[in-house]
Amino acid sequence: EHAEIGLIGLGTMGRNLALNIAENGYRIAVFNRTAQRTDQFVAKAGDLAERLVPSRTIEEFVASIKPPRAIILMVPAGEAVDAQIQVLRPLLDPEDLIIDAGNANYHDTNRRAATALSGGPHFMGIGVSGGEQGARFGPSIMAGGDRSAFARVQPLLEAISAKFENVPCAAWLGEAGAGHLVKTVHNGIEYADMQMIAEVYGIMRDGLKLDNSAVADVFDGWNQGVLQSYLIEISAEVSRTRDPDTGRPMLDVILDRAGQKGTGRWTAIEALMLGTPAGTIEAAVGARGMSARLEERKAGEAVFGSAPRPIAQGLLGPEVLEPALLAGKILCYAQGFDLISAAARQYGWAMPVPEIARVWRAGCIIRSALLNDMASALEEQPGRNLILAPFFADTLRRSEDGLRKTVAMATLHGLPVPALSAALSYFDIMRTGRSTANIIQGQRDFFGAHGFERTDMPGDSFHGPWAIA
Ligand code: NDP
Repeated sequence: EHAEIGLIGLGTMGRNLALNIAENGYRIAVFNRTAQRTDQFVAKAGDLAERLVPSRTIEEFVASIKPPRAIILMVPAGEAVDAQIQVLRPLLDPEDLIIDAGNANYHDTNRRAATALSGGPHFMGIGVSGGEQGARFGPSIMAGGDRSAFARVQPLLEAISAKFENVPCAAWLGEAGAGHLVKTVHNGIEYADMQMIAEVYGIMRDGLKLDNSAVADVFDGWNQGVLQSYLIEISAEVSRTRDPDTGRPMLDVILDRAGQKGTGRWTAIEALMLGTPAGTIEAAVGARGMSARLEERKAGEAVFGSAPRPIAQGLLGPEVLEPALLAGKILCYAQGFDLISAAARQYGWAMPVPEIARVWRAGCIIRSALLNDMASALEEQPGRNLILAPFFADTLRRSEDGLRKTVAMATLHGLPVPALSAALSYFDIMRTGRSTANIIQGQRDFFGAHGFERTDMPGDSFHGPWAIA
């Protein structure tokens, strides 16, 4: 009996995704470069093994799938994906479909999609979020590429995806690399969400001198309110947990040097390339980079003295940090959606932006209560900045004071808040009808005769009366 779908790459993600697919009733062909791993996988699959169709050669694997075939690749992004496509192409029919489910750079997906258009097989790039657990029990799936090909795998992708109030968190989000772009921006937002949480943690730890369990209580409290989200929930848990070996709080034994695999950085690069403001995400990526400079930071502390100073009682508390984080979050998501819209315009993709907020509501790392409201707001006013939607404009009006006070207090007390202050700057710029770019234009015209528009005669280009050297 033929398998209904195939999967190549039985690593962490591939194994879990394959079990999820089998559990949903599909027969799935599996193949791994190292055959031993396939054997181990099938041996450990228990009852689900009867729906797995393992192969030892790629030819056997392709032949075991029912045409028109759909094959998921779960191998490391980059060369491994190209190599697999090379191997598969001569074995597949033009109507078959290759789905890259790894964390590809969306420019690579654009290139592969373009190649696929000339003679097939069809190609899709899908972003899968939620880590190992998500892959096994329901990830958020951000699909991009061939829309007609998507229709063929839609029931399967919806079946294996996370559900938000019974609605599947899997959708087609645009042509070519659109799905991988959305996954990239998801990760950029994830960096920013985490960094802003780390900044308020820093204020609580070094400014308010709260101990770890008090910090955990604050996060727990926030998780009952507007900030309810997976990242706040796990922040509480991380803050409360003790090291079984030493009995010390885990947060006191974890080194302050954060790693990264690069998708946050891609988001910042893309924002710069597309000319859209994403300062909060850029600040978060920058902060990860600075965290790695442990020795340099220690040298800096030795020369200048430690930056953080305690904040006097009564000046700032968790009740102020909560709206600060809320405002920062809204402003950061506004930047993320704006970046996605800019890419859609750049590539002529029909990206359903509210649908993106919808697939993020469950299964992925940035899942939160707020995303449901974001989906509604983006739907009500298509193409408009999220902060201008009445619900979020209102929320920002109410939380602005908290953000301003938090950034001001933190700055005065040497507590670094790069992402929160970037969010505040974005907000202030976005509500400044008369910006300071008039002097930039004056400078540009002065040194380069670039010309400027006049406020009293818009449209035409003018030069100033300065003596050009
Ligand atoms: P693993 O390292 O666990 O597994 C990689 C798999 O790819 C292995 O089965 C390996 O086979 C195979 N492989 C590696 N190189 C090649 C190659 N050149 N040709 C053929 N097969 C190859 O990776 P993950 O499962 O963690 O990640 C897979 C993809 O999913 C990546 O793009 C990753 O970024 C993405 N992802 C990962 C998440 C996570 O939480 N881990 C979350 C979301 C996405 P072999 O056994 O022979 O070595």
